[in-house]
Amino acid sequence: MKVLKFGGTSVGTPQRMKDVVKLINDGEQKIVVLSAMSGTTNTLIEIADYLYKKNPEGANETINSLEKKYRRHIDELYSTEEWKEKTLDFIKQEFDYLRSFTKGIFTMFEEKIIVGQGEILSTNMVTNYLQELGVNATLIPALEFMRTDKNGEPDLQYIGEKIKIQLEENPGKEIYITQGFICRNAYGEVDNLQRGGSDYTASLIGAAVNATEIQIWTDIDGMHNNDPRFVENTSPVSQLHFEEAAELAYFGAKILHPTCIQPAKFARIPVKLLNTMDPTAPGTVISNETEYRKIKAVAAKDNITAINITSSRMLLAYGFLRKVFEIFESYKTSIDMICTSEVGVSVSIDNTTNLSAILNELKKFAQCHIERIEEIRHSESGKGHVHHLRCWRPRLAECRLRISSHRCHEEYSSAHDFIRR
Ligand code: ADP
Ligand code: ASP
Ligand code: MG
Repeated sequence: MKVLKFGGTSVGTPQRMKDVVKLINDGEQKIVVLSAMSGTTNTLIEIADYLYKKNPEGANETINSLEKKYRRHIDELYSTEEWKEKTLDFIKQEFDYLRSFTKGIFTMFEEKIIVGQGEILSTNMVTNYLQELGVNATLIPALEFMRTDKNGEPDLQYIGEKIKIQLEENPGKEIYITQGFICRNAYGEVDNLQRGGSDYTASLIGAAVNATEIQIWTDIDGMHNNDPRFVENTSPVSQLHFEEAAELAYFGAKILHPTCIQPAKFARIPVKLLNTMDPTAPGTVISNETEYRKIKAVAAKDNITAINITSSRMLLAYGFLRKVFEIFESYKTSIDMICTSEVGVSVSIDNTTNLSAILNELKKFAQCHIERIEEIRHSESGKGHVHHLRCWRPRLAECRLRISSHRCHEEYSSAHDFIRR
């Protein structure tokens, strides 16, 4: 069985939903993971913000205009009165549910429920459309099987057992539709897999059902060799190793959720990145194969915190790095990148929740200097990351530039080396 995921733009209009249905309705059995229609999750976050700020009027206004938009979509998507009515009833229930949050107390629990409604809306709309066309399709709710454990990590065993039950309860269906992004946490509360998390849903399901292939359908023809939003004339990379793709995603290639490659890699399931707007384009295949001795792509990431830790006692000393790492470990903060010199170490982190506690500990044996890098892409020439990165101090540039380096160590001993060349 294949698992196919369609992102926000791929289901962003009624016409796009129809195009997706044409792509998936080929008689082959499959699980289809859908994101929210593009823009919806952002609007839901806006609604939650109004409610945090105790502004129910602002929230209601935004809910009403979002509802109007969905009502127009329904009108365009279905051709029979029966399915229009049925889906409008569902939309009304959904938006009444959203309005119910404007009346009570508002915490992060309610916020999580609200931001996940976009996927509930899109999956119900597409399933109803498939059923209107007479396709043998059904909806399997992600909240019945997608779950994280006490560490916030996906609970693979639970997911595998529960999705099996969902499939057994709906035997012989051609298309199983489900929501990306949303899940429950270890306590059964509604949660999510972070922004862009529908990719992660797809690869977790792929691993859970031992899929033959995971397809991530988006608005571009695969992983490009640089970020096309900032660099001109980029081109798709046809083949990537799991580790290369994981590294690029983790270090800023937005086409993939940072951790979504892991489950596919462990289960050895190939991942294809394909373009909904150009379905015949070959895209990118991510597997255990790769072309050697070649730099594949460059990725860059904003909002990085660099911590430069120096100690004169590090010279010829041992145990310094262990002490540093133990502190980060005890605060469950992962280090993205690291470079060391004779007297210090520089690390970059994403998650700054425990930064001040970490600094307090580090300062017991070292001097620390913090640099916050909000935005690295302000190159006037528009020539992109590499051009711009060359302007930074090499050590910091080293922290920000990540070459897909899995196979290129022989040629470039480090990112630093690459920059100098
Ligand atoms: P979806 O909504 O389908 O999940 P995303 O917006 O999350 O799509 O990801 C696709 C976008 O990722 C592309 O439109 C592109 O602008 C951006 N992107 C950033 N870096 C890359 C890259 N290296 N290759 C391809 N796309 C990239
Ligand atoms: N809808 C969610 C988001 O916008 C998840 C996703 O699209 O992958 O982040
Ligand atoms: Mg995405």
